[in-house]
Amino acid sequence: MKQIFSQELKTRQINIGSESWSSHPIRWYSDEVPISQHNLILVGDAAGIEPAFGGGIHMALSYGEIAARTLIQAFQSSNFTFRHYKQAVMSHFMGGHIKACTRLASKLYGGEEDPLRSLVGHFLAGQFGSRNLLSLLLGPDNAEYNKAASKGTNIK
Ligand SMILES: Cc1cc2nc3c(=O)[nH]c(=O)nc-3n(C[C@H](O)[C@H](O)[C@H](O)COP(=O)(O)OP(=O)(O)OC[C@H]3O[C@@H](n4cnc5c(N)ncnc54)[C@H](O)[C@@H]3O)c2cc1C
Repeated sequence: MKQIFSQELKTRQINIGSESWSSHPIRWYSDEVPISQHNLILVGDAAGIEPAFGGGIHMALSYGEIAARTLIQAFQSSNFTFRHYKQAVMSHFMGGHIKACTRLASKLYGGEEDPLRSLVGHFLAGQFGSRNLLSLLLGPDNAEYNKAASKGTNIK
């Protein structure tokens, strides 16, 4: 990655000399990492982006709703342990989205799935929920999509 970036800079006549640079992955949501403790809840990027495509705007909006409800309940019950916050996140429709994206991320970055197909499928699933359309757009070379398309099955 550094090599590609460095070459790209050179083509633009940008010389960064001997300065050192480093990169790190953005934090993504993980089941194993806590997102709340007594008197504290994490939202949006602080809780983690979705790990497949790195989107975070839609999740930040959902977190706003969940956090607002959580805080209202906490003040109403004078209980600020936030023990059930993660459960509230995961039972929201955004939680389902996180789970689906987490499964997809492991396939994508484990080399099991073609990123372009997944990206298009991801958006079409949200927009139309139909494998037939996906198969139509991406061509007839994907056995799984074709099988589902011939049965008229919806994208999961
Ligand atoms: C270059 C780039 C492109 C992106 N493209 C997309 C995209 O196409 N689609 C998508 O879904 N997501 C995208 N994202 C991710 C998306 O922007 C974030 O996931 C989303 O904005 C997170 O919202 P947030 O409210 O959690 O955090 P933020 O939007 O980062 O808001 C945090 C706010 O807190 C403020 N703040 C920080 N520290 C303090 C402090 N100590 N006191 C007071 N205020 C403080 C900051 O100034 C900021 O305004 C992109 C991100 C980047 C960087």
